Amino acid sequence: MGTGDYYDILGIPRSADDKEIKKAYRNLARKFHPDVCKDAGAEEKFKEINEAYSVLSDDQKKAQYDNMGHETYTSASKGSYTGGGGFGGGGFSADFSGFSDIFDFFGGGQRRSGPQPGSDLLMRIQIRLEDAVSGVDRDIEVMHTEPCSACGGTGSETKKLNICPRCGGSGQMRQAAHSAFGQFVRMATCTQCNGKGKIAEKICRVCHGSGHSRMKRNVSVHIPAGIDNGMRLRMEGYGEAGDYGAPNGDLFIEVYVQSHDRFTRNGDNLETIIEISPAQAVLGTSVEIETIDKRHIELKVPSGIQFNTALKIAAEGVKRRGKPGDLLVRVKIVTPRSLSSEQKDLYQKLAELEGKSSGAGGFFSGIMGGKKKSKK
Ligand SMILES: [Zn+2]
Ligand SMILES: [Zn+2]
Repeated sequence: MGTGDYYDILGIPRSADDKEIKKAYRNLARKFHPDVCKDAGAEEKFKEINEAYSVLSDDQKKAQYDNMGHETYTSASKGSYTGGGGFGGGGFSADFSGFSDIFDFFGGGQRRSGPQPGSDLLMRIQIRLEDAVSGVDRDIEVMHTEPCSACGGTGSETKKLNICPRCGGSGQMRQAAHSAFGQFVRMATCTQCNGKGKIAEKICRVCHGSGHSRMKRNVSVHIPAGIDNGMRLRMEGYGEAGDYGAPNGDLFIEVYVQSHDRFTRNGDNLETIIEISPAQAVLGTSVEIETIDKRHIELKVPSGIQFNTALKIAAEGVKRRGKPGDLLVRVKIVTPRSLSSEQKDLYQKLAELEGKSSGAGGFFSGIMGGKKKSKK
């Protein structure tokens, strides 16, 4: 929609000020309003005018538009005008909340006629990190509306619906409205059928005609491996019931992943920490790692490992199908605080040896060797 330049659509120069923009918009909107103009393409034209005005009447959007040019701006803001449905469908009414003074007579924000689809629901759940890593099936309880079982969702005790006599089934009524531009006929939601176009032959006593009943329902949800904080799963049709003949809304489940005391997550990788002694770091060692799903893996720490080096255990991260993440084991070297006299003797000997070989490229030549010298 709207391939033309906004200034051209409103027929104004680029230098037009707020007043001129508003005036041009009012004139055109009056001319092409679908209730007034019955020409083919009037509705499309009316939408274009509104789109142009919604941008040029907003200082911030206008500045962006002037800067970026039409092509770039419209592709950048794509999506804001894709609201489907014809005029009066509410498809783009949300964009016009800012100037209701102009829009009120158009009856913007009206509900679409016919049976209404059900609303979406949002639920938040918490899962453990291990469940996000491996995936998990969860049964959750959702409170939502379902079609009334007494009337099969029709709202009518006889399950029979009649065409609404007031609107003849369209769900819309014509109403005379007065505005600054004169008198208009506007479309309003039918007050007898609430826009549905049909009314119950005999109102259902169980649901009082709504066709819905409030129910608690267990829903099995498969939470896939790799899910991350804030991601949403969509359960189609598990939202609120729609009007009779219209689809249900969806249930969205927003997932929060709890933190773990031993593992942190970094994308599809997991990280954990092990602590080893200086002697183990020097000579190399082997440690047993417990994976997040509680299996035990032998990890070889090579001799001469440096502080904070990460050792990789492949495919022990997030179990995403195809390409699982890795487990990174970060090595911390912990200096002993209390030593037996035997240990102390050995460290003493070691220190002396390092002193002699300082500069010869021993393990500690840079650090300990220097220290030793300054002590002397
Ligand atoms: Zn009606
Ligand atoms: Zn009912």
